[in-house]
Parts: sequence; structure tokens; C-alpha cells
Amino acid sequence: MKLLDTLRISGRNLFRPKTTTPLPWKGTRPRAARFRTSFALLHDEHGDQACIGCKMCEKICPSFIITVVPGGRAVSEKTGKSRGWCADFTLDAGACISCELCVQVCPTDAIVMLQVPAEVGFSREDLLLTMERLYANEKPGTAAWSTGSGLIAMQEPPKPPKPAEAAKPAETPKAPETTT
Ligand code: SF4
Ligand code: SF4
Repeated sequence: MKLLDTLRISGRNLFRPKTTTPLPWKGTRPRAARFRTSFALLHDEHGDQACIGCKMCEKICPSFIITVVPGGRAVSEKTGKSRGWCADFTLDAGACISCELCVQVCPTDAIVMLQVPAEVGFSREDLLLTMERLYANEKPGTAAWSTGSGLIAMQEPPKPPKPAEAAKPAETPKAPETTT
């Protein structure tokens, strides 16, 4: 009986339409809007490295794979203003779970994830993203959908009503008119 059931199920599935795309893929396949992989560090609008070495990304990372070495404060040659700098930054992508928390907490939008597929690695060392590699990944049009400010803005609670509106007394409902 079991054999007949198995044959019946196999026979039914034999003529079902294919639900997967056969390999090798032909042409380009559309990616999900929020597809993300690998990372880049960015420069700010003045051309300075945007990372201020605050270590927020290091502290929030649930996989403990980010190491930031702060570089202290110094005056930017481009803006003439004092700011924090990062002396070294490494991210071990081999243990990344793509949670994007590091992107979300960054106060300067210095770190982003990428939409382009990561370079294939053949050893664990190939997955270690050094500061140099992270800045080399900064290319126009390759960043994924989100930035730190964008993600934080999405989580802001709704604004409270304006004081004038909040103080306004609620209208008392009119009593129904009586007919005599
Ligand atoms: S996306 Fe990866 S590197 Fe960033 S916080 Fe999550 S696990 Fe850490
Ligand atoms: S990438 Fe952002 S969160 Fe991480 S150390 Fe640099 S400024 Fe801070």
C-alpha cells in the first residue's frame, strides 16, 4: 500500500510546473529590494573619512566581529573643525548575520551594507574586511537600501499632539432635541 502511495505522489509531482529557476541562470535576475551583502566605509560630504571611531558598531554587533581602534580627536584639514577619527577598523564577514545593527547605530552614516555580491573567498582570511578593503568597497550605486539615519528615522515614535490641540476641551455631545 505504501509503495502505491509513493508511486501516486511521484506521478502527480512529475507533471507539476517547475518552481525553481534552472542553472545556469540566463540574463539578470531581479534582487529583492533589501538584498544586502558585504560592507563599505564611506567618506563624508567634505571628503573626510566619515567614521569617527566611536565604537558603537563594535558594541552592538551580536557576533562580536567588528574591531574599531579609535584615533582620537584632531582638526580636519578640509573643514578646520575638530572631530574624532578612526585609526583602524576590521570586520570579519565570515560570522556576519546581516542584521544591519552596525549600520543602524552609526551616528555618521559611515558604514553601509552593499547590494552587489561579495567577492568570492577561498579562505577565512579572504572574508576579513580590513579598513583598506572597506574603503575600497565605496563605489557609487553599490550601497544597499539603508543608512543609519534612514533606519533610525523609521523607528521614531509618532509625534505627540501640539500643546494647543492637547489642551482643547473635548466637545460635549448635543442632547437630542425633544418634541412636545
Ligand atoms: S550586520 Fe554583521 S557586522 Fe553588522 S552588527 Fe550584524 S552581525 Fe555584526
Ligand atoms: S562605523 Fe560608525 S558606529 Fe562604527 S565606529 Fe565608525 S562612526 Fe562609529
